[in-house]
Amino acid sequence: MEHPVEVKRNPPSVMHRRSQPWWVGLYMPAIWKGLWVSLRQFFKKSVTIQYPEAKPQISPRFRGEHYLKQDEHGHMKCVACYMCSTACPAQCINIEAQPAPTGPGWEGRDKVPKVFEIDMLKCIYCGYCVEACPKDAIGMTNKIPQVYTSRKEFLYDMPRLLANGPGSGEKKS
Ligand code: SF4
Ligand code: SF4
Repeated sequence: MEHPVEVKRNPPSVMHRRSQPWWVGLYMPAIWKGLWVSLRQFFKKSVTIQYPEAKPQISPRFRGEHYLKQDEHGHMKCVACYMCSTACPAQCINIEAQPAPTGPGWEGRDKVPKVFEIDMLKCIYCGYCVEACPKDAIGMTNKIPQVYTSRKEFLYDMPRLLANGPGSGEKKS
């Protein structure tokens, strides 16, 4: 009758511990090393800021709140083509189109938005809407998303987006 072969294994951790000097087992070197790392941080300049009282330095490339652009006549550039809302992965852009007004500056335009809303609570600030726009009508500021107390305030409508260009409201830090 065959007996099962017994395989003896030494746990790696035990072998490792045996090859170390005895004083390592006291853990004091590691403790002192950790304390020294913590101690050094006390004398370094703090990297945290007291937001919102202190404004952070935001990179100009930061993708923040959106704004709708205007042309040289002061009209919104948007032609309600739905490209941005189609490209939006978070489906947070709501557009309703209406016929474009007639008159100077509106030539060659079929539609303009009647409703243009972005739900900033759903937005993931990916910038796809800006890339998708064929009219360069939507942009992103480097304003960091604001803090509000109701969901309604995160719904940016068309007048708010038109007034939200760079340099408006909260200035670049
Ligand atoms: S930044 Fe991205 S998620 Fe936000 S509205 Fe534009 S496409 Fe949608
Ligand atoms: S913002 Fe640009 S992509 Fe979006 S509906 Fe207006 S023109 Fe089209």
